[in-house]
Amino acid sequence: MTDDTDTGVTLRDGVEIALSDGTRVVADAATPDGDVAVYSHAHGDHLYDDSPGEAVCSPTTAALAGVRRDDPVAAVSHPRVELVDAGHVAGSRAVVVEDPDGTTYCYTGDVSTRDRLSLDGFEPPDADVLVVEATYGTPEYVFPPQAELERRIVDFLEDTTDRPVLLFGYALGRAQELQLLAERAGRSVVVSEAIADLSAVIASHHDVSFPGTRYDDLDDLGPGDAAVLPSGVAGSDWVDRLCDRTDALAVGFSGWAVDDSFLYRGGYDETFVLSDHCDFRELCDVVAAVDPERVYTTHGFTDELAAHLTSEGYDARSLVADQHTLADFG
Ligand SMILES: [Zn+2]
Repeated sequence: MTDDTDTGVTLRDGVEIALSDGTRVVADAATPDGDVAVYSHAHGDHLYDDSPGEAVCSPTTAALAGVRRDDPVAAVSHPRVELVDAGHVAGSRAVVVEDPDGTTYCYTGDVSTRDRLSLDGFEPPDADVLVVEATYGTPEYVFPPQAELERRIVDFLEDTTDRPVLLFGYALGRAQELQLLAERAGRSVVVSEAIADLSAVIASHHDVSFPGTRYDDLDDLGPGDAAVLPSGVAGSDWVDRLCDRTDALAVGFSGWAVDDSFLYRGGYDETFVLSDHCDFRELCDVVAAVDPERVYTTHGFTDELAAHLTSEGYDARSLVADQHTLADFG
């Protein structure tokens, strides 16, 4: 590092890493203004609003961005930026940046170390400075093993085949996992148009296929059917009426399902823990594996995770928007 405190990491529009030669690498910005734009994955809160034209990202992320945004982006490489599989959703990558002065930065984006269905878990690289996500950065969010989570869900879907089910999850990531789990349970699967479009892009870039076909009329749902729908419509009046007409069960899936409030807030009949992120213990394990000199936490329980890491002996800080790390964390 250049010295003890100045790591060049700033949270502005996205996470900016300023290298010693003046190059500004900007990750996951809505409107990137740096020298190198990087995108970790194609979830809306990590993706551009205005396309930079070209960016360092995986080909899958560029293709998914083309579906989700008006303007496409071209996936390019950069000699100082390496992409590492992040295990979060299809195409997700952590970013490793090599400063000419020898400092190595790792920005995880959203990350999961679990092998899940068609995704391989994140294998943490070595880095001097780590910017780690903190979505589940408090100790109450520790999830059971993945195989157990999947078995609970498949058992439920098998035990309820006398009724249709509505399975709610993010259109990118969870919706593909839910299709595969419903298929495993012998369910006939239909999906929304947006989920079908994203699933087709993922299938065209990876060695995986998804069983869901686009539905014509959800009122046609019968026993044994499963409809995978975007989580944003859960609890809406039309979903409630659909459940009344078809006798469907509404089922929610998230790491937040650790809390009972997730069930009530979403108006679900049943919820299951299923996440595309590391849980608290896995986040701590990522930090231990990277073994950085400095850790910044971002997205979610940033203060809580930074405080825990500090208590474990790490030099850890919550990355706060619009504050330069050198000036504000001395
Ligand atoms: Zn994400």
